Amino acid sequence: HADLAMYQAKESGRNGVRFFDPAMQLAVETRAALEADMRHAVTGKQLRLYYQIQLTSDHRPLGAEALIRWMHPVRGLVSPAQFIPIAEESSLILEIGHWVLETACKQLVLWSKHERTRNLILAINVSAQQFNKHDFVDTVSTLLHLHQLNPNRLKLELTESVVLSDVADVVSKMHALKALGVKLALDDFGTGYSSLSYLKQLPLDQIKIDRSFVSDVTTDPSDAVMVQTIINLAHNFRMNVIAEGVETEDQLNFLKQNGCMAYQGFLFGKPMPIDEFEALLGQTQTLA
Ligand code: C2E
Ligand code: MG
Ligand code: MG
Ligand code: MG
Repeated sequence: HADLAMYQAKESGRNGVRFFDPAMQLAVETRAALEADMRHAVTGKQLRLYYQIQLTSDHRPLGAEALIRWMHPVRGLVSPAQFIPIAEESSLILEIGHWVLETACKQLVLWSKHERTRNLILAINVSAQQFNKHDFVDTVSTLLHLHQLNPNRLKLELTESVVLSDVADVVSKMHALKALGVKLALDDFGTGYSSLSYLKQLPLDQIKIDRSFVSDVTTDPSDAVMVQTIINLAHNFRMNVIAEGVETEDQLNFLKQNGCMAYQGFLFGKPMPIDEFEALLGQTQTLA
């Protein structure tokens, strides 16, 4: 009986004992199945990068954020919110992360061949484990050289969970990446716990205002203040700032009026396969 199971779960949970709860059991099984299948995701060529446009308020495309998708042979498209956290618990995230970096570099090579796409910046998400690997900077450097890429076309998005580990190590790695010419952004800004004194040590090019603040910016005064504060903070630290999750003209107008200069969100385009992205790019450039 569900109520009984829940009651027993609560009781035993209190004592820190493992318990049986049907819903949780299902989640555990799905998770285990995903984890097992994920071992084939990279080798079986089931991963894709989708591209979401980043642009200025006057419709000038700046580039894209690459967002991973898993084309599961049975489940169909699996979102990264479902599988990245699982991958992060094992070394699978390293394989996936490497595939993302390599695929992004190959895309940048293709873009470098055409006038229209030559100056685009491609952002990728880097997980904590990947960044913390001792040879991460070497890996990035090797790939950039191998593909003869202009390093400042590549942007690495780091979250506070990445930068909150060993401070000295993180700061020196970030400086080494900056020395290569790579751009660095802090993702999901405002949702973590990093202090201002910590933030000021980081050689960041950009901070990304988290979608959770943008979504209620026109209706919730405290989110409005939060967004204004983040924009001012970025400007005072001489970093640029991008708003993620922009869905409405009202949100865009608020952000514009408060000095935000770069945008990403469904208002401009969802993450999409490369051919659709390039078509969108053409339309956007015509509008500019
Ligand atoms: P993120 O890096 O913060 O990426 C932004 C997420 O917000 C994306 O979700 C994107 O589709 C979504 N988004 C953008 N604009 C809007 C909007 O206007 N409305 C709404 N409702 N959503 C919007 P997605 O693609 O599901 O990715 C979720 C998270 O998974 C990412 O958050 C990132 O943390 C992680 N992720 C995605 N790709 C990778 C990857 O290649 N490597 C790693 N380590 N993590 C990844
Ligand atoms: Mg991101
Ligand atoms: Mg984000
Ligand atoms: Mg996010």
